Amino acid sequence: MRYGIFADIHGNLEALETVIKAYAKENIDQYVCAGDIVGYGSNPKKCLQLVKNLKAIVVAGNHDYAVCGLSDISHFSLPAREAVLWTKKQLVETELSYLSSLPLTITKEKFIVVHSSLNSPLDWHYITDKSSACQSFTSQETPLCFVGHSHVPGIFLEENRQIIASPQDKIKFKIGIKYIINVGSVGQPRDGNPKACYTVYDTETNLLEIKRMGYNLEITQEKIIKAGLPQILAERLAGGH
Ligand code: ZN
Repeated sequence: MRYGIFADIHGNLEALETVIKAYAKENIDQYVCAGDIVGYGSNPKKCLQLVKNLKAIVVAGNHDYAVCGLSDISHFSLPAREAVLWTKKQLVETELSYLSSLPLTITKEKFIVVHSSLNSPLDWHYITDKSSACQSFTSQETPLCFVGHSHVPGIFLEENRQIIASPQDKIKFKIGIKYIINVGSVGQPRDGNPKACYTVYDTETNLLEIKRMGYNLEITQEKIIKAGLPQILAERLAGGH
């Protein structure tokens, strides 16, 4: 089985289309989205439709829940809050109810998917270092856990109660070790690399690869400005931060 696992599209249509095109060459059997289809970008509707077309397994992100009032936005940055309110206005009832129906976690045989972290998923903790990874590992019963949220791709391993941050973008999973894989962000990477991020996981070979693909982000930036969304949301795309 080959899974195409991605997250944090954030209404960026050009990035999502690029990733879908790249996936077309990967023989994917099942797509998985680790949350945040909407928020920040100017194409929430089209991104929602494309994810639905993929028949992806989808968990809720904090922005998905925020636009339907299920998550508190008082701690959001001002541009993020503005984008949530703008996005809410673009969506119709069926789209909002789809987002509000998304579960916080989904478990498959070998993995679990959650947007933030397994310790209290609705509190939207970020897994950014060994200590936050450790807290999530305590609630992880599957060998693998796929997350998004920080927009920074990366892998944490727990072996013999030791936690290691792996710098690899290609890994062969071993039996007896637990892994957290942050699949990065399709539409707003924050690791200094502006290219869209996506992953491929093959259950036969036990291999996972984190991949990147450039797209025409000038178009995306223009659309964000034209929509009247905060300018910073366009600017940050170029630097990948
Ligand atoms: Zn996000």
